[in-house]
Amino acid sequence: MKLIFEKGAEGRKGVSLPELDVEKKENLIPKALLRKELNLPEVSELDVVRHYTKLSTLNFGVDSGFYPLGSCTMKYNPKINEDMSFLQGFALTHPLQGEELSQGVLELMFELEKALCELSGFERFSLQPAAGAHGELTGVMITKAFFKKKEENRTKLLIADSSHGTNPASCVLCGFETIEVKSDKEGNLDLEDLKEKMQQDVAGLMLTSPNTLGLFDKNTEEICKIVHEKNGLVYCDGANMNAIVGISKPAEQGFDIMHINLHKTFSTPHGGGGPGSGPVGVTKELVEFLPAPLIDKNRKGFYLNYDLENSIGKMRSFFGNFGILVRAFTYIKGLGTSLKEVGENSVLNANYLAVNLKKDFDLPYNRICMHEFVLSDKNFPNQVTTMDLAKRLLDYGFHAPTIYFPLIVHGAIMIEPTETESKETLDEFIEIMKKILKEAEKEPEKLKNAPQNTPVKRLDAVKAARQPDLRWKKQ
Ligand SMILES: *Cc1c(COP(=O)(O)O)cnc(C)c1O
Repeated sequence: MKLIFEKGAEGRKGVSLPELDVEKKENLIPKALLRKELNLPEVSELDVVRHYTKLSTLNFGVDSGFYPLGSCTMKYNPKINEDMSFLQGFALTHPLQGEELSQGVLELMFELEKALCELSGFERFSLQPAAGAHGELTGVMITKAFFKKKEENRTKLLIADSSHGTNPASCVLCGFETIEVKSDKEGNLDLEDLKEKMQQDVAGLMLTSPNTLGLFDKNTEEICKIVHEKNGLVYCDGANMNAIVGISKPAEQGFDIMHINLHKTFSTPHGGGGPGSGPVGVTKELVEFLPAPLIDKNRKGFYLNYDLENSIGKMRSFFGNFGILVRAFTYIKGLGTSLKEVGENSVLNANYLAVNLKKDFDLPYNRICMHEFVLSDKNFPNQVTTMDLAKRLLDYGFHAPTIYFPLIVHGAIMIEPTETESKETLDEFIEIMKKILKEAEKEPEKLKNAPQNTPVKRLDAVKAARQPDLRWKKQ
């Protein structure tokens, strides 16, 4: 497809202005400040409309097809969420207009926080963090502030070997050294390894629950106990909360801090870099460290409470990505007590896929899974790789699963169907996965040369990352 710069014709304009009806003044703008060449596309209004309409159809989204991207919870985003966030009272509000004129907005945030507390068991939440990774950073900063107050010098944090890359990154950004704890054969955290590594200079552990293999660690309470015995804190990476939402509460299992990705579990659109929202919840003893302000209520109404003794400060301008908060709140209120079915059906859908695919594909951790599961590339014939399979899926109109993560599974294919997909879609996916495996045996070039049916063919991902060429230049 041509770029907009390559369309149109010299001198073509999108607007026509009436003749100048005032005296034209020469040299009104100093010559040095005048732009010599604008380099804008010379196109008509219709050229522009057609170009961007066409472009919009090249995109792949949850609204256009199945999107089993593991750990990302690409569920359907109900359109009523959008309607609510576009209400004038929300969309046109200004963060500086003051508490008195922002009562509705503050109430929504207050109520959302209460709902998150109820669902997770934590005492309070900050709604400021703008994403999961940002929530992790907030949580690790709270951990640091907690030990600073106790005047304990703890320099290390434990992470699971199955953890998301953002976990070690958040630790290192805060000046902690990370130590990896192994997973055992069943995909749980290795308790012996944890005991050995949980020493006095360790501030705590970051654990994804359910973990990135899509498994609920049956030793979760025991794990928290081991860390607590050494007075450490346990951080819950809550990106996978979709499996347990409305069913179990991480705070009751022993976690001290947790982030929730509203854009995953609570159905706000995501991908392409945001905006997202990653609220952070803590137990009672850690509330004093939360980012200020919190939203509280007194006799006069809702207000911004900056009175937090040991607050780590502000994590974001104003009060977080408010539009995302409205969407998540709408989703929670819309489902009400049926929120529990989200967890149940996401787990059901994932197990349905796992059971049907493991007949042909290798499922290294062969247990009942939560909302996702991870296949390996073992048994792929003809040097076909996970990447080839992922690319071939695009030819059949599916988004690829998450691949090569978690790192502890060779050629990992991480599949998360979510609860919003129908049985027909799941059956179609199973059929296509099996068909691709047959192609791999008989016509491997079909996978090696995939994708063929997409607007662009296979990209050189390494070159794109190392030598990005993002700007069009006139020849
Ligand atoms: C998505 C994800 C994150 C990071 O969340 P963002 O909102 O993308 O910053 C962290 N951990 C896990 C397990 C995730 O799936």
